[in-house]
Amino acid sequence: MSKKIALITGASRGLGKSTALHLAAQGVDVIGTYHSKQAEAQAVVAEIEALGGRAHMLQLDVSDSSSFDAFSTQLAQALGEVFQASQFDFLVNNAGVGIYNSFAETSEAQFDQLVDIHFKGPFFLTQKLLPLLADGGRIVNVSSGLARFSMVGYAAYASMKGAIEVWTRYLAKELGPRGINVNVLAPGAIATDFGGGTVRDNAEVNQMIASSTALGRVGEADDIGAAISMLLGDGGKWINGQRIEASGGIFL
Ligand code: NAP
Repeated sequence: MSKKIALITGASRGLGKSTALHLAAQGVDVIGTYHSKQAEAQAVVAEIEALGGRAHMLQLDVSDSSSFDAFSTQLAQALGEVFQASQFDFLVNNAGVGIYNSFAETSEAQFDQLVDIHFKGPFFLTQKLLPLLADGGRIVNVSSGLARFSMVGYAAYASMKGAIEVWTRYLAKELGPRGINVNVLAPGAIATDFGGGTVRDNAEVNQMIASSTALGRVGEADDIGAAISMLLGDGGKWINGQRIEASGGIFL
């Protein structure tokens, strides 16, 4: 049986990078994307190759839907030239940024940036990639615990994640006839560069989250890479249209 191929957006750092490494360890070939950090992206390729896996990185600005035609052409080329394939099997819509602001202060520019990166981008990128995604494939969208509980400063960001969760159910319904399952993974607060690295670097925030979490610590990127790769492994084959939270049990 030929190897599965995953496309992971935002695979240069954080949760996407960890997902890439976990999938590579499961024998999955990886095509990742980065936005601006090419060197970090190439370092992920080197790490996967050192494990005996295959990986390739493409540049993508997920907020720019006018670039998706060209991206899909590049992806098709990479599939053929690097992986001798015409389709890929797993799509992980992960790329994103954190913008923190109160509802009262949120500007239209911030709202537009968030909607473009976190909702419009994944929506139309996935639509564009449908012909390249194999029947029987899988999609994992990345949401946030903030779509279930509310914290001051995340009204716009969390609303986009709420939209991703609704969209996931519709995608599962419409792609079911092709045998494609679609789920949404909602991480709790994870110690990455996200949002300026607050969860990792701000001791007060870190402690507040740890003390609100049943397992008593903040999440690490590895916790999420493991969860997403589990959904894309054999154990995830009958899970469909679901929101799965990986947060160590925050605000239960
Ligand atoms: P991160 O460490 O900051 O990494 C963000 C990734 O997204 C990088 O690979 C970055 O590429 C890419 N990216 C940023 N803007 C982009 C754009 N406009 N177009 C394409 N790619 C872009 O963040 P993370 O913690 O891994 O977060 C990943 C996802 O998890 C996001 O969707 C986030 O909302 C979600 N999430 C995170 C947390 C958390 O606490 N960390 C919690 C819940 C949900 P470059 O490296 O090239 O900049």
